[in-house]
Amino acid sequence: MSNNTVTMEKLVSLCKRRGFIYQSSEIYGGLSGAWDYGPLGVELKNRIRDFWWKEMTQLHDNIVGIDAAIMMHPKVWEASGHVANFSDPMVDCRQCKSRFRADHIDLAAACPVCGTKGSFTEPREFNLMFSTHMGPVKDDASVVYLRPETAQGIFVNFKNVTQTSRVKIPFGIAQVGKAFRNEVTTKNFIFRTLEFEQMEMQFFVKPGDEDAWFAYWKQSRIDYYSRLGIDKNKLRFHQHGETELAHYAKDAFDIEFFFPMGWQELEGIHSRTDFDLSRHQEFSGKEQNYLDPETNERYIPYVIETSAGLTRSVLMVLSDAYEEEALDGGDSRVVMHFHPDVAPVTAAVLPLVKKDGIAELSREIEQELRSDFNTFYDQSGAIGRRYRRMDEIGTPFCITVDYQSKDDKTVTLRFRDSMEQVRVPIADLTARIRQEIKAYKRVE
Ligand code: ATP
Repeated sequence: MSNNTVTMEKLVSLCKRRGFIYQSSEIYGGLSGAWDYGPLGVELKNRIRDFWWKEMTQLHDNIVGIDAAIMMHPKVWEASGHVANFSDPMVDCRQCKSRFRADHIDLAAACPVCGTKGSFTEPREFNLMFSTHMGPVKDDASVVYLRPETAQGIFVNFKNVTQTSRVKIPFGIAQVGKAFRNEVTTKNFIFRTLEFEQMEMQFFVKPGDEDAWFAYWKQSRIDYYSRLGIDKNKLRFHQHGETELAHYAKDAFDIEFFFPMGWQELEGIHSRTDFDLSRHQEFSGKEQNYLDPETNERYIPYVIETSAGLTRSVLMVLSDAYEEEALDGGDSRVVMHFHPDVAPVTAAVLPLVKKDGIAELSREIEQELRSDFNTFYDQSGAIGRRYRRMDEIGTPFCITVDYQSKDDKTVTLRFRDSMEQVRVPIADLTARIRQEIKAYKRVE
C-alpha cells in the first residue's frame, strides 16, 4: 500500500468535502485552533473512542470507568502543580505583537511574521489553563479553570472508587473527555487545538511493582495501535530524557506517530510515583491511602498513566488510512483504509437499478443490516461513482443488489481494499460481514 502521497492539505480538503471536519465558526471567518466534527467525523471519533474504551475497560478485568466534571475545585490545580508550573515560556514581538513559544523559535533571528530583528521580549511564563468565574462576582475567589487534562478527575475520585466498587490493587480507572489548553501554536489541523479530547487511564499499583507494570503498559499500548490497524512502521517510542521528565516522574515514554508533518507525540505513558495522590492528601487533608486486604499494609499507591489524545488519534487514523491508488487502465481512486471497527460507515447498500423492485429489495436488506452495522443506502449515480464515494469515506463493504438478487436471493459483496467482489446469499450477509471484520488484516 503506497501511502506516501498524504499531505495535510489533502486531508483537510477531504475532511471538508466529505463532512468529516469543518473549521469552527467558518461563516464568521473561523476561530483558529478550533474545529467542528461533521456527520462522518463524529462517527469516526466516537468509534475510535469506543474502541479504546472497550480495550481498556471490557477487555481488562481490573479497569473501571468514570466521567468527572470538567470544572473542578480550584485547589485541585494547586495540588496538581498546574497553577504554579503548567506554563510555556513565551516571547512577544514588540513590532507586530505576535506571540511564540520560546522553545519553538530562534530568539536571535528576525520575527518570522514581520521580519523585524531584535524585536522579541524576554521570555515570560504563560499559563496554559483557561480560567473563568463561577457565580456573579468576578474576583480571585471565584476563579475556576477548565481542566487542562482529565487525569485529576480520576485522582480525586480514587477513594470513592475503592470504597464503592470491588476493585483491588492493581487496578485502573479510565476516562474519556474534553480538556482545554490555551495553546499558542495551533497549526497542523486538529493536531494541537485549544479544546480537545483525551483518553486517559491511571493504573494504581503497589510501590515496588511499578517497573513491571510500566513495561506491561508500554507493550500493551503499542499493540493496541496494531489492533486498530495502524501501520507499525509509522509508530515508535521516544523515551523522555532527564530534562524532559517531570520532576516527580520516574520514567516516561511517548508513542510517536509519523504524521504528515513528521514524527510527533500521540500518547504518553508515565510512571508518576505517588506524586498525585500524595499531593491531594496534603492539599485536601483527606487520607489517600489503600489498605491491602491480604497483607493489611497501608500505602499510597504508585501510578502508571496512559494518556492518549482522542482528537489527535482521529488525525492519526485519517493520515494512516489515506491512499491515492493508481488503478488499471489509467484510472485512480482515493481510498481511506479505515479498520472496519472504526469506519464511519461499515456497509453501504447500492441497488444497481432503481426499477423493478430492486430499490425496494435493497432497502429491505439495508434495514435488516442496521441493527448490527452502521449502514448507508445510496441509489443515485453510476455504480462506479458510488463505489468511489464509498472508497473515499472508507466504507469497507459495499453490497450491490441486481436482477439476479430477485431470482436467487444473493447479492454482490465488494471489498474496499482489494475491490474484489463475491456473491453471497442475502441470508448470510450479517454473519459474513461479521466474519470479515474479525479477520480484517491491514494490507501493508
Ligand atoms: P505537548 O508537549 O505536545 O504540548 P504534552 O506532552 O503536554 O503535549 P500531555 O499533557 O502528555 O501532552 O497530554 C497527553 C496527550 O493529550 C498527548 O499525547 C496528546 O495526544 C493530547 N494532547 C495534549 N495537548 C493537546 C492539544 N492541545 N490538542 C490535541 N491533543 C492534545
